[in-house]
Amino acid sequence: MQHALGLRAGVLTDADHESLRGAADANPGGASRVTQRARELREAIQALVVGAAHGRAPDPAGLAMLNRELEAAMAAVTVAPSGEGFVWGWPESTSDPDLARPLWPLARSAAELLVSPERYRLRQCAGEGCGWVFLDEARDGRRRTCEMANCGNRFRIRAFARRRATAAQPAAVRGGRSAVDAAQVPDRAPETASSDG
Ligand SMILES: [Zn+2]
Repeated sequence: MQHALGLRAGVLTDADHESLRGAADANPGGASRVTQRARELREAIQALVVGAAHGRAPDPAGLAMLNRELEAAMAAVTVAPSGEGFVWGWPESTSDPDLARPLWPLARSAAELLVSPERYRLRQCAGEGCGWVFLDEARDGRRRTCEMANCGNRFRIRAFARRRATAAQPAAVRGGRSAVDAAQVPDRAPETASSDG
């Protein structure tokens, strides 16, 4: 399963995928252990980036998990030509590939993100029921929701409802529009609110 995931994420070539599938079929016990490691690594990375997004200290067990997988990734990493330059990479899988091969690019890229200045731009989406972690590339660094349309819209609708609730009372007290009128006539529709989150 993690091999298909690696292929979708662009970290495995078709050839890697084929040879890994053959190796997994030949060693189902090993494949299921790697699948378990993949799940644990995914959870560890998730916890680490969420923690970083909130400025929390990392969970030691999650960090240890990432470091174990990183050690294997770094033991196998190579420099490969790419266009006019070079990239970190892993040799094409041979006839006897390491089943953990799909975990290496994930461990390495998670580690690179955590040690880079970009980690200060990690945010957890404030959209209802989302929790997606994203990189805030807005200049002011104040983006609140991920790029899923629903998240931004729901978040703005909730924020709008809060503003409306606080605005309604003074309007009634001032003897202008009633609270009900104020609630029904928004000064700015949430759909057209600023899209910067
Ligand atoms: Zn979201």
